[in-house]
Amino acid sequence: MAKTKKYIVGLITNGLLLSERLEEIKDIGIADIQLSIYENTKEKLREIIPNVYKYFPLNASYVLPKSQLVNGERNDFKELIETIKMCMDTGCASFRFNICQQNGSTKDMPETILENDPLYDTFIKKCKKSFANINFTGYNTKRRKIPSKKFTVFFPFPTTKNTLQRMCSQPWTLLPGSGNGDCGLCCGGIFLGNILEDRNIVNNEKARSIRRSFIDHSLPLEKECENCTFRVGAYSSDF
Ligand code: SF4
Repeated sequence: MAKTKKYIVGLITNGLLLSERLEEIKDIGIADIQLSIYENTKEKLREIIPNVYKYFPLNASYVLPKSQLVNGERNDFKELIETIKMCMDTGCASFRFNICQQNGSTKDMPETILENDPLYDTFIKKCKKSFANINFTGYNTKRRKIPSKKFTVFFPFPTTKNTLQRMCSQPWTLLPGSGNGDCGLCCGGIFLGNILEDRNIVNNEKARSIRRSFIDHSLPLEKECENCTFRVGAYSSDF
């Protein structure tokens, strides 16, 4: 249905079943796969990714908690650098860090990375030094070369408390859905409805009111958007 309406369809997965389900998904028209990488899956993915990347562009993502930066500083962020390298060597097209984010129901999030965190700056510098010939984009990078034929690493903009910064493009560009038809605007953040019951979900009242709040800055933000790290324009739609 989405394809007949000319939407681009992608798949978000932890990738663990990709090899064995490859034949089933090869021809259903997926434009790309967003592969969520975790510490406890990366060794398994090292074997899986080479079997899959020839059929779909694989864009890897990794949640970067503040504690991993703090611990990583002791050994020059070795594990994180190795994770990027694994994705690059096995055939992913890109690698994106995500920052842990508060939402309307999370009052405190010690694992988020806030703006002006010198440790985050140090980590980005280390990444740039470790990889001479790849494309870096996002926070603290001067150039935005996307899309690029080179393997690209994206650094998200850190969380800001300044609610006048409203640059999220997600309400216009993305409609994540689950297998039962439930759709939201972001990973579990804002629930829009069920696409099987509401065929106008992309333009329903909730979707339009969220978009309005990004255009007219005098309107209140949705509570989920207030502490969201993607509010400053750092989601995959930008990437
Ligand atoms: S700012 Fe965050 S919560 Fe709000 S629409 Fe964008 S991604 Fe969703």
